[in-house]
Amino acid sequence: MDLVLFGPPGAGKGTQAVRIREQLDVPQISTGDMMRAARREGTPLGKKFDEYMSAGKLVPDALVLELMKERLSKPDAAKGAIFDGFPRTVAQAEALDELLAEMGRKIDQVVVLEVPVEDIVDRVTGRRSDPTSGQVYHVRYNPPPAGLEVVQRKDDTEEVVRKRFQEYEANTMPVLPHYDAKGLVKRVDGVGSLDEVTERIRAALGA
Ligand code: ADP
Ligand code: ADP
Repeated sequence: MDLVLFGPPGAGKGTQAVRIREQLDVPQISTGDMMRAARREGTPLGKKFDEYMSAGKLVPDALVLELMKERLSKPDAAKGAIFDGFPRTVAQAEALDELLAEMGRKIDQVVVLEVPVEDIVDRVTGRRSDPTSGQVYHVRYNPPPAGLEVVQRKDDTEEVVRKRFQEYEANTMPVLPHYDAKGLVKRVDGVGSLDEVTERIRAALGA
């Protein structure tokens, strides 16, 4: 099963990917998480990612695709994956089709989490995470347990999230017609409790 979880920044892609991956028995592949890991290691590639991420701009396709090629060659991704935050451009979507075709696979479904922009700003600026486990919380909608030290991503400011949303509208929304033409897209209302959204996704997947 190869599933694309699609949607604007802060739509709940990561939160929901974690909730459905066990049932689907495939890993979550988040290009954002992979880039943040490279950044933490301080590699030259990580520094390059940081330039773009801090400004809320998309990382160039060639760099993203290099990461994805390597990730898909790992054994845990042999049977499928939940793609979270990828593809973000038409060129990435076309390259993903080719990569999967080489493995005798294809994207089976695309779920779009629809969330209005004002909720997005509210969600992203209130996002926090546990630096040890990576678990994502929200100061109001999914508060971390008392006493847990959580951190905020440096690109989760109102200014940068508005820039990221513009990038989404300009470069990422055009990916949808690519999948719509194949009849793969299911649109899901991303506003509601975490459980409600999970149920809607399960229903859309027929799972
Ligand atoms: P994405 O991976 O799409 O950027 P996240 O899963 O990190 O989004 O969610 C963004 C923020 O919104 C997080 O702080 C998360 O806890 C919160 N969040 C996720 N789903 C919901 C929801 N259904 N209602 C309110 N807040 C949510
Ligand atoms: P969110 O879903 O909250 O926007 P991500 O962690 O998916 O956050 O992405 C954070 C940043 O990482 C993006 O603003 C962008 O700079 C970079 N990034 C992540 N995935 C991609 C991708 N597939 N293509 C280009 N840039 C990416």
